[in-house]
Amino acid sequence: MLEKLADIILRCKTGAVLTGAGISAESGVPTFRGDEGLWKKFRPEQLASMDAFLSSPEVVWEWYNWRRELVSKVKPNPGHFALREIEELFDSFTLITQNVDNLHQVAGSSRVLELHGNIYRNKCVNCNTMHDPELEIKPDDIPKCGKCGGQIRPDVVWFGEMLPAAVIDEAFEKAEKADVFISVGTSALVQPAASLPLIAKQHGATLVEINPERTPLSDLADFHFPAKSGELLPELMTLLKEKTTG
Ligand code: NAD
Ligand code: ZN
Repeated sequence: MLEKLADIILRCKTGAVLTGAGISAESGVPTFRGDEGLWKKFRPEQLASMDAFLSSPEVVWEWYNWRRELVSKVKPNPGHFALREIEELFDSFTLITQNVDNLHQVAGSSRVLELHGNIYRNKCVNCNTMHDPELEIKPDDIPKCGKCGGQIRPDVVWFGEMLPAAVIDEAFEKAEKADVFISVGTSALVQPAASLPLIAKQHGATLVEINPERTPLSDLADFHFPAKSGELLPELMTLLKEKTTG
């Protein structure tokens, strides 16, 4: 099956990949919904929402400081590196991620559409002005925006918030144009990202899913690989390299 997919990919000019928390699982970043999910210990609404920030900003910042430290200690895994390499096989390639952990950038992917922001960035809770990512945030003394006095928050998309319009628009545009669309390590439940693979398929893309568990996408996909992305993506890349170098 991998062999067949490799042959298809080599005939494709445009490619798009959507990644979710699963691609970073093998790096040691917990997913939200898998068996080892973060939310087994914490309820998401209690931490990743504007309501939570307005009522207990110090708790929210404690959690984000903990997550920042966690992701700063981990490294990209072979799945991230394979996606960095696969982009070179296409005339046009787009990497879309729901992750906020920056690991695709660390792996060297040239351009990443971050649907849910980036955990390292800071912005103002009121006026959205961006602030220095190096700013140290003490939960009991949260720095304030120089422009409006609002508190600083992480630049991630919280539950109930809209995705950055320009980013999601571009993601939909790329999904429509993709000849092959690969969904990796996402539970395919969180909208609007969950629509991207469907849009790609409706516009004629070969749809591929890599996820050890089945998702609402699994039956629609042309290829479903019930595998870990850190194992399957490098295998696919090796096969592709063998075929291109003869
Ligand atoms: P999710 O937690 O809902 O789902 C993760 C999926 O990954 C599951 O379907 C699971 O079966 C699969 N998975 C687990 N291990 C895998 C592996 N080794 N290889 C391939 N797949 C594997 O994640 P989601 O769909 O991305 O949606 C959750 C939201 O959580 C997103 O908004 C994202 O911003 C946020 N989040 C981000 C991070 C991160 O940045 N690393 C971590 C947790 C959650
Ligand atoms: Zn402000």
